[in-house]
Amino acid sequence: MHTPEGFTPSHVLPASLPANTLAFAFRDAKVLVGGADDAPVVPRSSVLEGLGIGGDRHYLGDLDGTACVAIPLPADAPEPEGWRYAGLRSLFFRLPEPLLAIAARAFQVVEWDRTHRYCGRCGTPTRDKQGERAKECPACGYTAYPRVTPAMMVLVTRGRELLLARAPRFPPGMYSALAGFVEPGETIEDCIRREVREEVGIEVGDIRYFASQSWAFPHSLMIAYTAEYAGGELQPDANEIAEARWFAWDAVPDLPPSISISRRLIEATVARLAGDAARPC
Ligand SMILES: [Zn+2]
Repeated sequence: MHTPEGFTPSHVLPASLPANTLAFAFRDAKVLVGGADDAPVVPRSSVLEGLGIGGDRHYLGDLDGTACVAIPLPADAPEPEGWRYAGLRSLFFRLPEPLLAIAARAFQVVEWDRTHRYCGRCGTPTRDKQGERAKECPACGYTAYPRVTPAMMVLVTRGRELLLARAPRFPPGMYSALAGFVEPGETIEDCIRREVREEVGIEVGDIRYFASQSWAFPHSLMIAYTAEYAGGELQPDANEIAEARWFAWDAVPDLPPSISISRRLIEATVARLAGDAARPC
């Protein structure tokens, strides 16, 4: 997920919202959509009003001039006839990409709204802060911003081989790059060296940035890198890694789906190694 083209983010709710405002209304982790299963439609705010469904509105910005809002619905919000609550993952490849990206953004805002209703320091109910996307405590002044959790992903190469691993939760036969959450006090490079050491017992160098991806499950920013093997024997940590192996660039196993940054990272690296292999020494 990333900011779609034509989308201008803003947190300032306009004085009046047009009737054609796109309303991303969430009951728990599911968003209200209409239309056929394979062609879901995001409701307009006028439709929601007509259905008698509503809640606090968080302005997200405009997509090519059309306003977009996120709305947290109560857990017992009704499911009107002709509409349904759909998990975000079920909308991949069905909802147009820009709307999917805004739905993911909306989910993170709604989730933050729901989990920051009280001050984490003194327990007083919070209120939305003027001028920025934040909740503030009227009693002690504590301010809470939407949570974004940085995580790193790294694809380690050794010459023309790639290190791929399986987490116990992966479907059978699927391998991916290593990943882990950044800890307090670490740079991303520190995190890469620590996670690789902890998960598979080797050292890496030549750490290079590849790309990043927002991932709304629930609030990660995945920052992807490549690195080159620098020493040690593979010793996978049994708790986190079911199996880790070196694969030749032209014999990679099943990979994660194409929506994931891991797939792009692995494919780009395979293409680079294939280019190296084609070049005369
Ligand atoms: Zn407080």
